[in-house]
Amino acid sequence: TRIRPSNKRCAVIGGSGFLGRHLVERLVDRGYAVAVFDIRQTYELPGVNFYQGDLCDKHALLTALKDVSIVFHCASPAPASDDRALFQRVNIDGTRTVIQACHEAGVQKLVLTSSASVVFEGSDIKNAKEDLPYAKRPIDYYTETKIQQEKLVLEACSKEMDFFTIAIRPHGIFGPRDPQLVPILVDAARRGKMKFIIGDGSNLVDFTYVENVVHGHILAAERLKADSPLCAQAYHITNDEPVRF
Ligand code: NAD
Repeated sequence: TRIRPSNKRCAVIGGSGFLGRHLVERLVDRGYAVAVFDIRQTYELPGVNFYQGDLCDKHALLTALKDVSIVFHCASPAPASDDRALFQRVNIDGTRTVIQACHEAGVQKLVLTSSASVVFEGSDIKNAKEDLPYAKRPIDYYTETKIQQEKLVLEACSKEMDFFTIAIRPHGIFGPRDPQLVPILVDAARRGKMKFIIGDGSNLVDFTYVENVVHGHILAAERLKADSPLCAQAYHITNDEPVRF
């Protein structure tokens, strides 16, 4: 018989990033012991152990996943890096390695941060449900690798192996320490590149406050169990109202 890791031990892969750090902080508040696994360390926090490494390296991962029962996978190369080989290596091959490491470490639950873009093909989507199919022509290669990554994680869900998986799909995330969304908008505005409106100004876009995204991840992890309808499902995550531009 396998010895089950403690329910209150979790790991956040990508825990040094924008979303990952918010998730780590909330998990610590809820009494979890947290292991952060990331290629970089950006902060220190009591109750958190940092493991620096690449998620493509199974042996490095196994050190961080010792005695862990829940893994959150929110690591990814920045979409703006536009590096196809890197997206493939980290998001697809690396996710296979994460799943393998979870099996070897006896992890019970894997929560993936996916993206709402996995269903987007360039035309408007409003009030989308999760039964929308994956985009046949994703908007870029990054999104193509997010689709493959989500499929890998959801297909790995297995009652026989006592291993349960789920994916959370935010669109744009905003909040304190956001390195991308708002800074890029502000920078574009400063450079005078925001003087035009595309359409009649009634376009909608979905941004979610980072704490809501974190809340979705933690609820997903805590409710996921054998025979739960959450198993192997993906969930869009949003605020109540889209932001009007
Ligand atoms: P981020 O860049 O702030 O954080 C990602 C973290 O992953 C970084 O700390 C980075 O060092 C780490 N990382 C990258 N490659 C790694 C590797 N090979 N091994 C270990 N760690 C590695 O990004 P974020 O905005 O926090 O995004 C987190 C997740 O949320 C990503 O999966 C992203 O696709 C998804 N997402 C983000 C947004 C958004 O608006 N920020 C929207 C939808 C989905």
